[in-house]
Amino acid sequence: MHPVMSKNGFTSAVIPIPHFFGTRQVPEGFQTSIQLGEVTTGPPSFPFIANLKQIHSTRVVIFDSPVKTGVIPEGEGDALVTNQPQLLLVVRTADCVPVLLIDHNTRVVGAIHAGWRGAVGGIVPKTIQACVEHFGSDVAHMHVAIGPSIGPCCYEVDAQVIEPLKIGYPDWLGVLQETTAEKGMLDLKKLIWHQSLASGIPEQQVDRMEHCTYCRDDLFFSYRREGQVNGTMMTGVMLPGDKGRN
Ligand SMILES: [Zn+2]
Repeated sequence: MHPVMSKNGFTSAVIPIPHFFGTRQVPEGFQTSIQLGEVTTGPPSFPFIANLKQIHSTRVVIFDSPVKTGVIPEGEGDALVTNQPQLLLVVRTADCVPVLLIDHNTRVVGAIHAGWRGAVGGIVPKTIQACVEHFGSDVAHMHVAIGPSIGPCCYEVDAQVIEPLKIGYPDWLGVLQETTAEKGMLDLKKLIWHQSLASGIPEQQVDRMEHCTYCRDDLFFSYRREGQVNGTMMTGVMLPGDKGRN
């Protein structure tokens, strides 16, 4: 699937509600704190916003009651799930993988920040499971979009990553191209794609954007290319308001 470029970034054909995978450009109407890029205010089209203090964990934070404040004070974690309309879920990345998911039937959405720790730890399957257990989602109806991140062209990892990958993911050969005895090129997006399918999501409902944040200096920040955090890309998804209310 070819992602479509909109004014707020890229969109995926498998997510049929308001969403974006951001670029260097902060999406229109949003303001973020300078250091880490937390969203401080959003435009009227996104009245309620939730973001987290991201900690490279596999912690899923669930919002299941009506939101009353504009920007929810952040908790710690790396995945957000909600069934609440008009609440924009935001994650921020600068090489890590942003992932969005939706179950249209039960009206549940999720946003995930997955670096190697989160991906190898299974944060995406865990978030899918949270939708099933907490909201009664059926994986047959879920859609997953895997956004721009550092690609296997540029993501060389060492034993610190390879060892837990081999232990936690028996099919590691399909996502790691070994270069030397102790190093290899890791395809994080493909790992998450495999995990999504293994969770039971039909293949045609899983989208994977192949843009590499390291290669595409013109579009994305890259922590690895720049050697520091110069900025983060914002990725968000929101269930629209109930009929007649929005
Ligand atoms: Zn690359």
